Amino acid sequence: MSDVETFWAEFKKPIATADDYIASLRGRRMNVFFMGERVGEPVDNPVIRPSVNAMAETYRIASERPELATAHSDISDLKINRFLHVPASPADLVNKHEMQRELGRRTGTCFQRCVGMDAIGTCHSVTFDIDAKNGTDYHKRFLAFLKRAQAANVVIAGAMTDPKGDRSKAPHQQADLDLFLHVTRRDDKGIYVSGAKMHQTGAVNSHWLIFMPTMRLSAADKDWAVVGAVRVDAPGLTYIVGRQTNDTRIVDGGVMDAGNAQFAGQESLIVFENVFVPHQHVFMDGEWDFASSLVERFTTYHRSSYVCKTGLGDVLIGAAASAAEYNGVEAASHIKDKLVEMTHLNETIYSSCMAGAHQSKPVASGAYINDEMLSNVAKHNVTRFPFEIARLAQDLAGGLMVTMPSEKDLQNNEVGPLIRKFLQGRDGVDVTDRMRILRLIENMTIGRNAVGYLTESLHGAGSPQAQRIQIARGMKIEDKKARARKLAGVKPAQK
Ligand code: SF4
Ligand code: FE
Repeated sequence: MSDVETFWAEFKKPIATADDYIASLRGRRMNVFFMGERVGEPVDNPVIRPSVNAMAETYRIASERPELATAHSDISDLKINRFLHVPASPADLVNKHEMQRELGRRTGTCFQRCVGMDAIGTCHSVTFDIDAKNGTDYHKRFLAFLKRAQAANVVIAGAMTDPKGDRSKAPHQQADLDLFLHVTRRDDKGIYVSGAKMHQTGAVNSHWLIFMPTMRLSAADKDWAVVGAVRVDAPGLTYIVGRQTNDTRIVDGGVMDAGNAQFAGQESLIVFENVFVPHQHVFMDGEWDFASSLVERFTTYHRSSYVCKTGLGDVLIGAAASAAEYNGVEAASHIKDKLVEMTHLNETIYSSCMAGAHQSKPVASGAYINDEMLSNVAKHNVTRFPFEIARLAQDLAGGLMVTMPSEKDLQNNEVGPLIRKFLQGRDGVDVTDRMRILRLIENMTIGRNAVGYLTESLHGAGSPQAQRIQIARGMKIEDKKARARKLAGVKPAQK
C-alpha cells in the first residue's frame, strides 16, 4: 500500500470528537523544531499544546452547534464539518462566519483551521476553470481528495505565503530559486517540490497541507505555478515553530501569568526539500495564467474569514468591562462610552464580513465566493480596529496590567498577603479575579494572543496595501465621477 493509501486506511473510523482529533496527532513522524530543539511529540509540548487545544475546538463546536459548524456535502453525500465544506450558497458563508465568531469567543485566539477551509473553496473553482480551458483532470483529482478528507474528517492546512526574497524580482529571477516553492523534478508517478512557506497557521496541528502560489505569475514562472496536497508528515518537510511573545509563561509555573493558559495560535516556517506529490494530489502544474485568479479567490474568502477577530473582540470588550467593574468604575459615563466605542468598532468589522457573505455569488464550479469589494473592506477594517479596541482595553485596564507582580509572588508567604492587601479593588471582588482579567487583557493586547489579535490582523490574508490595491481596482471611479457630473449639470466632454 502506498504511503497515501496507508494514511487513509488509518482513518477508516473518522475523527468524531475533540479528543479523537488530539489522539490522531500523536505518534507521527514529523520534523518539528521549537526553541532550537527537535520536538518529539508536539501534542505534549507545553508551549505548543494550547494551539492544539484551540484547533480541537473546531471539532467540539461541530457537535455542540451543528447548525453552524456542519453542512451537507454533495461531494461525499455526508454531513461534514464546515471546515471541509465548499460553500454552496450565501447561507453557507453566513453560517461559516457565525461559526468563526463563536470560535473566536470560545478560544480568544486563532483556532487555525480557516486557511485550509478557504483553500478548499478556492481549489474547487480554480481546478474547474483550468480543466474547462485545458481539458486537464485537476478538478476530478481534487474532488476525489476532498471526498476522502471529508469522510475522514481530517484537518487540511492551507499554505500560500512564500518567503519572496527580493520583492522586486519574479520567482525565476531570485538568486535562490527556493525562495518561492517550485517543482524540481517530474516523473511518471508525480512531482517533487522544494522551497518554503512562511507564517503557516496551525500546520503542525493538521493532517494535510494544500500548498498554492502566493502571487500572479508569468510564463517564465511556470515551475512555480504549482498546487498540491501533501501529508504533513511527508518526507522532506521541516517545521520551525514561531516564537510568540510570552509563550513560555506557560512553563513558569501556575496558570495566571499566561493570561489564557488553555488556548493559543500557532505559526511555523515550513521547509520543503524535494517533497514528493503523487499525480492524484497535484491540482495545478504549470498553469501560471491561473495563479492570479487563485490568489484573488483565496484572499476574497480569507479576508472575510477575519470575522474571527470579532469573537476575540467580544472577549476583550468583556475583559475591559470586567476590569472596570472590579475597579468600581463601571457606572462612569466615560467608561460606558469607551465600551460603546469598542463595540461599535467590533460590530463594524462584523457587518462588513457578513455583508460580503450575503452578497456572495457563484462561480463556474458552483462554489459561492464572498463579494470581493466587501471582503477587502472587511479585512481593511481588521487591519485597524482591533488596534483601537486594544488601546481602549488597556485604557480601561490601567497600568497595573503591566506592573503587576507574578502569580509566584502571590503564592509567596511573605509578599503574597501584601499583594492581596494592596491590589484589592471594589469590595467583594477577589484580588486573584482582578489579576486574572488584567492578565487576559495583557495576553490579548501585548502577550501571546496579541500575535493573532493584532499583528496577524494587520498582515494575515495580505497587508493593508494589498486590500487598498483591490479596493482601487473595484471602486469604479469613472462611474462615480459620471454620476456626480450628471447631477451637477456638467456636460460630458466632447470627443
Ligand atoms: Fe481562522 Fe482567524 Fe486564525 Fe485566520 S486568523 S486561521 S481566519 S481564526
Ligand atoms: Fe491567518
